[in-house]
Amino acid sequence: MNSELDYLRENLKCIMNKIEKAATKSGRKPDDITIVAVTKTIEPDKIMAIIDLGLIELGENRVQELAKKYDIINRKCNWHHIGNLQTNKVKYIVDKVKLIHSVDRIELAQEIQKKAEKYGRIIDILIQVNVSLEETKSGVFEENLIELINKISVFENIKIKGLMTLAPYDENPEKVRDVFRKLRNLSIDIEQKNLDNVSMEFLSMGMSNDYEVAIEEGANIVRIGTALFGRRS
Ligand SMILES: *Cc1c(COP(=O)(O)O)cnc(C)c1O
Repeated sequence: MNSELDYLRENLKCIMNKIEKAATKSGRKPDDITIVAVTKTIEPDKIMAIIDLGLIELGENRVQELAKKYDIINRKCNWHHIGNLQTNKVKYIVDKVKLIHSVDRIELAQEIQKKAEKYGRIIDILIQVNVSLEETKSGVFEENLIELINKISVFENIKIKGLMTLAPYDENPEKVRDVFRKLRNLSIDIEQKNLDNVSMEFLSMGMSNDYEVAIEEGANIVRIGTALFGRRS
């Protein structure tokens, strides 16, 4: 009857099957894994359809698009900021997001603190780590990670909830398994330091091309766009 809903339902079913297998391989339940549906460039009607199928965690990488969709989508859902975030744009989303996945520098954290305080909110963030040392990617380098976390941990309106990374694209996701394993090991190291305001509850890693490998290596948030909605135009 509703073909849009049908193909989304099929895609979701396929993803859920793969998540179940990967979760089982890593000794976890499928419910332990959260799908953030990446809705960048996707029209509101499709987003509402995906929410109706039960995916209520939504990810955007552009501030303006997130703010606009936040106003348009009249469903109960949670917004995640997953991409590069310019300091001067924090003000547009700080009252709207559930989790910011991409904090990678102190200036950005300072601005989030400032605006969160203004809105009387505590903002949950992940630290984005550039594990693969690609020059074009954002994220803090491993050698600067602890220093950054220490600095951010004193901010009263920010809670560090885990780590995020983007693996390099490779047709064969086995080739990036090491990247995911590295992020997981970093999160274990940090957890053991028992820092105030810092927990390693979430590991946000894995996209359409590599989420199964990421889950096998410990991801509990995967950010999926293409596998759900099809290729972006
Ligand atoms: C676009 C995007 C995704 C989703 O990518 P797909 O390959 O379409 O699943 C995940 N994470 C970030 C940060 C993105 O920008």
